[in-house]
Amino acid sequence: MLDGLPATCWGADPDGTWATSRGEALRRLDHAVTEVLPVFGPHEDAMLSTSWHLAHTLLSPYLNLGLLRPDEVCDAVEAAYRSGDVPIASAEGFIRQVIGWREYVWGTYWLWMPDYRDANELGAHRPLPPVFTSMADPMANPMAGPEAALGATSGDTQGAAGVADTDMNCVRHAMADIHDYGWTHHIQRLMVVGNLCLIAGGGPVGGDTVDVVVVCRRSGVGDAAQRDWHGPAR
Ligand SMILES: Cc1cc2nc3c(=O)[nH]c(=O)nc-3n(C[C@H](O)[C@H](O)[C@H](O)COP(=O)(O)OP(=O)(O)OC[C@H]3O[C@@H](n4cnc5c(N)ncnc54)[C@H](O)[C@@H]3O)c2cc1C
Repeated sequence: MLDGLPATCWGADPDGTWATSRGEALRRLDHAVTEVLPVFGPHEDAMLSTSWHLAHTLLSPYLNLGLLRPDEVCDAVEAAYRSGDVPIASAEGFIRQVIGWREYVWGTYWLWMPDYRDANELGAHRPLPPVFTSMADPMANPMAGPEAALGATSGDTQGAAGVADTDMNCVRHAMADIHDYGWTHHIQRLMVVGNLCLIAGGGPVGGDTVDVVVVCRRSGVGDAAQRDWHGPAR
């Protein structure tokens, strides 16, 4: 199947990091509840160059692809809290993300799509900073004017597969994780990748394959593109 992918397909080959069946996803849930949730709350908003996943549960792909249900995931976390295995800071933080933010994003999607996809209240029409393209094709966009400054280069390893062509260490790490795992954690999405696009005025691009989350997260949070937008005229 991988051989059939187009040459423009970018990213490391799958290495078994992600589950691909219901049974495996349930085992990942069990691991998240017993090994990760106890430290989820205190480290939720941290960023470290030495860990690509920190204390995040890595459950979003399974929730978005339907391999896990939001209610069973929250029930498992609540049960671990009631049995004293998970502190309130972690249980509350996790459950709030699923029944709060995730449901809000779901509602926003069904309320405002399809117009929402094209929302761009800040008029962010600039090309993406070259750091987002330098990994796929190191020679892409070298003369892109001021945006190129955002991907200033030095050192001969940058631009190689998985190594972003930038001196911004936080951006390089986030891009390497996206290349290696197809995933980067929330703070990297919001405060690094999202912020860089916002500052650079780069037009909205996608997230994971699940439309509901991609459009709403990208427009609503990453690019603030809905700033004064109150939905399509009905
Ligand atoms: C710019 C940007 C793009 C994003 N793109 C996506 C995307 O394409 N797909 C996606 O599922 N999430 C997206 N998010 C939300 C969030 O970053 C991910 O859900 C989270 O990083 C997934 O990792 P995890 O499963 O380890 O989450 P954890 O940190 O372990 O959180 C647990 C669960 O809570 C839910 N959750 C956590 N944070 C959020 C949030 N801010 N909004 C909605 N639900 C949340 C997810 O279902 C997640 O699995 C995006 C956020 C931003 C800022």
